[in-house]
Amino acid sequence: MHGAIAPVWDTAPVGPSPELVLAQPPPPSPPSPSQPAAAPRFARLASRYRVYRLPAFLLAAALLAVVGLATVVGLRSFAESAEWVEHSYQVIAELESTLAATRTVESSARGYRLTDRPDLHAEYLSSIPAALSHSAQLIALTRDNPLQHRLARDIERRVRQRLAEIDRLLELHLRDPQQARLSSLTSNGAEQMRALTAVADNMREHERGLLASRDARTERNAALLTALVIGGLLLALSLLALLMLSLWQENRRSRALERESRQALAELEASAAERQRLTERHRSLSHYAGLLQSCQTLEEALDMTAHVIADLIPELGGRCYVLRASQNLAETAARFGREAIASADLLHPNDCWALRRGQVHRSQAHDGGVRCAHLERADPQRAHAGDDDPRWSLCVPLMAQNTSLGLLCLSGARPPREADLALVQSIAEQLSLAIVNLQLRETLRVQSLRDPLTGLFNRRYLEENLQRELLRCQRRHLPLSVLMLDVDHFKRFNDTHGHAAGDALLARIGQLLQELVRNEDIACRYGGEEFTIVLPEADAEAAAQRAERIRAAIAATTIVHLRQTFGPATCSIGLATSQGERDTPQQLLQSADAALYRAKAEGRDRVVDGNRSAAVASDARA
Ligand code: GH3
Ligand code: MG
Ligand code: MG
Repeated sequence: MHGAIAPVWDTAPVGPSPELVLAQPPPPSPPSPSQPAAAPRFARLASRYRVYRLPAFLLAAALLAVVGLATVVGLRSFAESAEWVEHSYQVIAELESTLAATRTVESSARGYRLTDRPDLHAEYLSSIPAALSHSAQLIALTRDNPLQHRLARDIERRVRQRLAEIDRLLELHLRDPQQARLSSLTSNGAEQMRALTAVADNMREHERGLLASRDARTERNAALLTALVIGGLLLALSLLALLMLSLWQENRRSRALERESRQALAELEASAAERQRLTERHRSLSHYAGLLQSCQTLEEALDMTAHVIADLIPELGGRCYVLRASQNLAETAARFGREAIASADLLHPNDCWALRRGQVHRSQAHDGGVRCAHLERADPQRAHAGDDDPRWSLCVPLMAQNTSLGLLCLSGARPPREADLALVQSIAEQLSLAIVNLQLRETLRVQSLRDPLTGLFNRRYLEENLQRELLRCQRRHLPLSVLMLDVDHFKRFNDTHGHAAGDALLARIGQLLQELVRNEDIACRYGGEEFTIVLPEADAEAAAQRAERIRAAIAATTIVHLRQTFGPATCSIGLATSQGERDTPQQLLQSADAALYRAKAEGRDRVVDGNRSAAVASDARA
C-alpha cells in the first residue's frame, strides 16, 4: 500500500502552454573542451601583427639580397686582394732576381778578370740580359704605383750603370790587365752596388708595407663581410621565423575557425531538425485540438487521443481512464502503444497519487514506495540488487474546474524527453476540456430527450427512434411490438389525493417501467398519464407477457407521499405488433392506441392485444 512518502516528481496540474513549451529553442551547447582557452589570445595577436607580414617578408628578402650581394662583392674583393698580394710577391721576386742577376754579372766578371776562365766569361755574358730583363720586368710590374715605378726605374738605371762599369773594367782587362787592376782599385763599383742595394731595400720595404696594408685591409673586409653575412642572415632568418610563426598561428586559427564552423553548422542542422519536429508536433497538436472539437462521443475522443499519442510518441505506451459518475472507480476507456509498466484495468481513485493530489505524478520502476498502487509491482529482486531499472511511469490527471474526470497513465522503457512530457500534458489538458464539453453535451442531450418527472424518454425521442428501430427490425424480418399504457381514473386520483400525489404516482410508474423493460427497449412518457413502450424484436406473445407483468406490477404498487400511502392504481395497456414490412410508426401507434381504447372500454386494468380481435385475459385476474 502507499506509504506516506512524498512523490519524487510533481508538477502543477496546469503546465506551460504547448506554444510556450514547443517554441523553446534548444539549449546552447557548452564550448568544446578541445579548444584551448588561449586560442582567442593567439587569434588576437595573429590578427594584430598580420599587417606587418608583407613588410617583414620584403625586409627579409631585401636582407637576403644584401647578404648575397655583399658575399659576391666580398669574394671579388678577396680575389682582387689576392691578385695584389701575388703582384707584390712578383715585384719582390723581380727585385730579388734583378739584384741576384746583377751580382752574378759582377761576380762572374770579377772571376774572369782574376782567372780568365772562359766559362766565367760565358756566364758573364749570359747574366747581363737576365739582369736587364728582370729590371725591365720590375719597371713593367710597378707601372700602377708611381713611387715604386720611380724606384724601379732608379734601380734599372743603377743596374745599367753598374753593368756599364763592369763592362768598362772587363774591356780594359782585355786590353791591359794591369791597367784594369789599377782602375778597379779606384772604381766606385762597391759604392754603386751599395746604392743599388739601398734603393732595392727601400723598394722592398715599401712593397712589403703595401703587402701588409693590403693584408690588413683584406682582413678588415673579411671581418666586415663575415659580420654582415652573419648579421644579415640572422636577421633574415629571425624575420622568416616570425613569419612562419605568424603563418602557423594563422593556420591554427583557421583550423579552429573551421572546426567551430563545422560544429556550428551541425548544431544549426540539429536545431533546425528539432524545430521542424516541434513544428510538426505543434501542427499535430492543433489538428488534434480541432478534431477533439468535432468528436461526438467520449469514446470517439478517447480513441482519437490514443491514436494521436501513439503517433506522436511511439515509444510510450499507456491508457486513458474515465471516472464513473459516482467518482468511486476509474475504468480503462482506451489504450495505446505497449506499456513498459502494466496498469490495472479498473482502479480506485485512492490507488493513484495523481488522482489523489490532482497533480502529475512520475515514478521510476525501482521507486517502490512512491509507485501508484494500480501499477505493476517492482521486481523486489532487482530492487534489492540495486539494479537501476530505467522504466518509468507518468500519471496525468484529467481535470477541469477542479473536478477529476479521468487519468492518462503512460510508461516507457527509457528516460523520457521533457518535450514529450510537455506534449502529454498539453494533450491531457485538451482532452480534459473535451471530456467536460462532451459530458455537458450528453447531459443536455439527455435532458432534451428525457422527461424530468419520470426519467423516461420523451415523445420526441420516441418519434425519432421508433422509425429507426422499426426499419431495423423489418430489414431483418424481426417483429417489433408497441405498448400504449394509460393510468386508470387518474383524474380522480388527482382530485382525491392532490396533483403532487399524482406526480409521485407518475414518477413511481416511470421507475417501474425502467426496471421492467430490457436495455434495448424504449420506455417513454407519451404525455400526461400515458406511456409508450417500444419492444424491438418482441413478437405479440412476448409483448403481451411483458405488458401483463407491467400491469401487474403497477397494480401491486403503492406510493408514499408526504408520509401518506396511496394506491395501488391500475392501468390499461393496448398492444400492437408490426407484422408486415409496410407498417409505419403511426399505424403501429394507432393500433396500440385503439387496443388501449378497447381495454378502457372493456373495464380497464387489463391488456388488450390489438393484433387479436378479443381482449387478452389478465393472468393476474385469472
Ligand atoms: P380514464 O380511466 O378514462 O383514463 O380516466 P382518466 O381520468 O385517467 O382520464 P382523463 O384523460 O380524463 O384524465 C387524465 C388526467 O390526468 C387529466 C389531468 O389532470 C391528469 N394529468 C395529466 N398530466 C398530469 C401530470 O403531469 N400530473 C398530474 N398530477 N396529473 C396529470
Ligand atoms: Mg389519458
Ligand atoms: Mg387515464
